[in-house]
Amino acid sequence: MTTIATRLQTVKSHIAEAARNAGRRPEDILLLAASKTNPPEKVREAWEAGQTVFGENYLQEGLIKIRALADLPIEWHFIGPIQSNKTKPIAENFAWAHSVDREKIAVRLSNARPESLPPLQVCVQVNVSGEVTKSGIAPEQAAELAAFVNQLPRLKLRGLMAVPELTSATALQREQFQIMWQIFEQLKKDGFDIDTLSMGMSEDMDIAIAEGATIVRIGTAIFGPRRYAIPEELAPRQ
Ligand SMILES: *Cc1c(COP(=O)(O)O)cnc(C)c1O
Repeated sequence: MTTIATRLQTVKSHIAEAARNAGRRPEDILLLAASKTNPPEKVREAWEAGQTVFGENYLQEGLIKIRALADLPIEWHFIGPIQSNKTKPIAENFAWAHSVDREKIAVRLSNARPESLPPLQVCVQVNVSGEVTKSGIAPEQAAELAAFVNQLPRLKLRGLMAVPELTSATALQREQFQIMWQIFEQLKKDGFDIDTLSMGMSEDMDIAIAEGATIVRIGTAIFGPRRYAIPEELAPRQ
């Protein structure tokens, strides 16, 4: 087996074990491979090892891979910050956007979603750690944005996404995931038809799964360490 195939197997067993430890079913947790900085050949390798869902952070880099791998029925998710001038190509090329964090972006994505495609599957990104550098809406405003997304014709609200602050303090880490779970549960109680809590990365997937994640976004543990930065011409301009 290739290294990627081996790592993928390890990650899957890891997810299954974390699920069982939490009294959950492994099949209720979707593995999204976060492929940023990895070239199309590596994505193809992961595909050949059975991985079908991939997430990209940077539009230009993502589009290059989507085109290079157009022969594969990959489900592409956009998981990076969304700039308003990039909404059209995101709406045209991705099945999901996890990182919707304001009304303007939601409207633009809905307007640009082609009629020939099913609605864009959307998560509202919550800045659960409150870090100023992080994207996402404040936890107390998440319900309002969710309601707004929910009434847009070409978007399908699936749930919430977060990138909690990575800390070695397990209790703090857990608390952030628990806040996400509480917002998620409250939305369901309020009648939202949602099923997705997108949280957990290579370093914190165990806690995320224990606290209710339904999608984990895993990069390093599948592809290995990111050795090189995004080429400058592909990096998002702020
Ligand atoms: C890079 C990235 C991941 C994966 O991170 P790893 O630590 O490499 O597993 C997940 N989610 C987002 C939003 C990312 O940017």
